[in-house]
Amino acid sequence: MGARARVAIVGGGIGGVSLAYHLTELGWTDVVVLEKGELTSGSTWHAAGLCTHFNASRNLTRLLADSIALYRSLETETGLPTGFREVGSIRLASTPDRMDEFRHAVGRAKVLGLPFELIGREEILERCPLLALDDVLGALWIPTDGYVDPSSVTNALAQVARDRGASIERHTRVTALSPRPGGGWDVETDRVALEAEIVVNAAGMWARQVGRMAGVELPIVPLAHQFLVTDAVSALANLPREIPVVRDPDRSFYVRAEGEGLLVGPFEPDPAAWSVDGVPWDFEQRLLPEDLARIEGVLALAADRVPAFGDVGIRSVVNGPDGYTPDGRCLMGWVPGVRDYFVLAGFSIFGIVFGGGAGRYAAEWIVDGHPSMDMWEVDVRRFGSYAAANPYLLAKALDVYGHEYAIHYPHQERPTGRPLKTDPLYDRLRERGAVMGFRFGWERPLWFAPPGVAPADDLTFRTPNWLEHVAAECRAVRERVGVLDQTSFGKYVVRGPDATSFLDRLCANALPTRDGRIVVTQMLDEHGGIECDLTLTRLGPERWYVVSAAATEVHDLAWIERHLPEDGGVTLENVTDRAGVLTLAGPRSREVLAALTDDDVSDAGFPYMTARRIRVGSVPDVLALRISYEGELGWELHHAVERLRNLYEHLLEAGEPLGLVDFGYRALDSLRLEKAYRLWGADIGPDFTPLEAGLERFIAFDKGDFIGREALLRQREEGISRTLACLVVETTDALPHGDEPVLDGDRVVGYVSAADRGHVVGATIALAYLPVELAEPGTGLAVEILGDRRAATVVRAPLYDPSGERLRA
Ligand SMILES: Cc1cc2nc3c(=O)[nH]c(=O)nc-3n(C[C@H](O)[C@H](O)[C@H](O)COP(=O)(O)OP(=O)(O)OC[C@H]3O[C@@H](n4cnc5c(N)ncnc54)[C@H](O)[C@@H]3O)c2cc1C
Repeated sequence: MGARARVAIVGGGIGGVSLAYHLTELGWTDVVVLEKGELTSGSTWHAAGLCTHFNASRNLTRLLADSIALYRSLETETGLPTGFREVGSIRLASTPDRMDEFRHAVGRAKVLGLPFELIGREEILERCPLLALDDVLGALWIPTDGYVDPSSVTNALAQVARDRGASIERHTRVTALSPRPGGGWDVETDRVALEAEIVVNAAGMWARQVGRMAGVELPIVPLAHQFLVTDAVSALANLPREIPVVRDPDRSFYVRAEGEGLLVGPFEPDPAAWSVDGVPWDFEQRLLPEDLARIEGVLALAADRVPAFGDVGIRSVVNGPDGYTPDGRCLMGWVPGVRDYFVLAGFSIFGIVFGGGAGRYAAEWIVDGHPSMDMWEVDVRRFGSYAAANPYLLAKALDVYGHEYAIHYPHQERPTGRPLKTDPLYDRLRERGAVMGFRFGWERPLWFAPPGVAPADDLTFRTPNWLEHVAAECRAVRERVGVLDQTSFGKYVVRGPDATSFLDRLCANALPTRDGRIVVTQMLDEHGGIECDLTLTRLGPERWYVVSAAATEVHDLAWIERHLPEDGGVTLENVTDRAGVLTLAGPRSREVLAALTDDDVSDAGFPYMTARRIRVGSVPDVLALRISYEGELGWELHHAVERLRNLYEHLLEAGEPLGLVDFGYRALDSLRLEKAYRLWGADIGPDFTPLEAGLERFIAFDKGDFIGREALLRQREEGISRTLACLVVETTDALPHGDEPVLDGDRVVGYVSAADRGHVVGATIALAYLPVELAEPGTGLAVEILGDRRAATVVRAPLYDPSGERLRA
């Protein structure tokens, strides 16, 4: 090992080694993997090795497909064994909702060109005769799934990385990290010290401890998972081919062949955490004592399903720990607030199947500055500090494990660990019937149950119970006025003598030159991908107020922070937790506001896209932004959060005689789709440019340079091949909710990025990226919802108030 390395990767499990493989593939060969034991001696060596393409996210499914493609080719490429067995997989469905979940998955797979298929009992038994299927309705068959030998794969990847120049240092424990003044790190180990430009924390369940060495708390906690291997099963011996991996999610276990026996793994409802306060450094190549009592309930269910399993003895039990995150997805990316420090850890029982692809996208992120596909769903910035502390972290991790095989419904909100962040209206809104949702730690209203209606979501893939109540909220906002608590917005103040020129370079839109003006703008990466979607208000020549979505509070803050000049000419302050926000929207919103303020709120006195500080009732210093994501006359009222309740009561008092209602985020979703407003994370993100997303009007090509301009100019010159179109879908019984395939004849031509019932326009609306030649209004297409083909027509967007008169009323 040299005294310097460009990249020092802490951890020689599948994650760290796959990263070394991919970094060296991209030409970065000055890479060292530091492993305190042997390679794979953490969680990797004892994994069951299952590799599936099944995932609820489109991009993560692609990542899994990348992993499996790599594992498929690795043995041929290297001549080294990987144990890859492409035996296919079967997921059994015993309930109609499970069948719906699989139908939705088949649709998503179609978009990606993956061969998912629904099969009946006969086909299930043909592939796996060992099963008793009395209560089974059908199954999902994925022929390209299988399993690997995790240690062999890791060692093969390590061998290639070594051959390309990486160095792999075993028995070398990183003991301390110190940032170097000019960037990079001094890395201390129990053997030697080295200097690295970049440190990658790929330390699996030790990642939290290795995070602390750099002063960060990462939300990763170890949980134990068990599987067992049986004695020989005679029924296996006479089969013409190996059985596929079978998962029975309704009974919460998986099974595959292992030698002459079976390997059976349960996900018990009451899992066990282990060593929550820190994993011993010398826990190497070790297992935990078996705990069959914890899993005997699930094993009994497994024996009913696979009678041969009940008839044989248990040869061995593996009880091993792995690092879990609060949502069961790994942490990837540059850690905010720490320079030159990247994380790739917390794979939560999926490290083997994620490892190959995750290493690829992490390597691109490090080498090119961004991954070639949006990694938001695993981006470390999706969590704030709220997620890294117990009991929340532990409760969520246990919950994720216990529900590993539960049905994942659209719009589902899990109650565990809540409430966490509440604003002063929380109890009051619940008293008024609010059904709350969770976003970035915050409780926020989704919809309001009228008196006599239970304030709870029914979970379904079809028509949800709240639809009619959300419809009523939408109509009230369009016809009268509504109030929505949006305190969870991310909010920052950017100030300093260079603040304006700094933001000008980051923003694709032209910044206002007068105080009190608002602009909606995207911030782009150098490739023109949409990194942030924000509202900026010019408070003064050196002072800007920036508002982003709740979910992207840390993401957007980190993006801006990363570009801050070193000379201190600009400062960035996160004021999210200090500012309350109430949105007042609807044609009568002006009357409500006028009744509470002496300030001029007429259109002439307070035009659209302007901001002023006003008094509202007894609440002073309310920064009112005349802007509306609902597409109506309206204001966002930003104010000191301790006056939130006070301001709300004023609005109720003045508004109720005018028909004011509470509305929630579900209504907002429907209203914004009627206006075809884009949502970051669904319709827009780094995978799309504003030209493709139909946001050209927000690009000020003439203003001079900004990040992404060159790429956009090139794209404008060359032309785009896909664009975000608005479709009206003929469906009443099942709503699309994202990822459904869009079909031209039998050809898949796109997918739905977001969809909802447009309650006021009376249509089901879907946004979808389509080839430009199919995006002309009037084009007849189809959307496949839960396996059924529904007619869809491209329409001119927005469907509601296309001239924008209502906003400017
Ligand atoms: C029983 C069980 C079954 C599983 N089955 C599957 C499966 O079927 N399919 C699947 O996809 N996943 C499965 N998993 C999950 C999978 O094993 C893990 O997610 C994966 O191995 C994690 O890889 P990693 O590289 O992040 O962590 P690890 O493999 O734990 O690697 C981290 C490495 O970092 C090293 N390290 C830590 N701190 C330091 C330090 N300070 N200095 C130097 N080195 C350090 C450790 O020694 C360790 O080797 C299973 C897990 C368990 C527990």
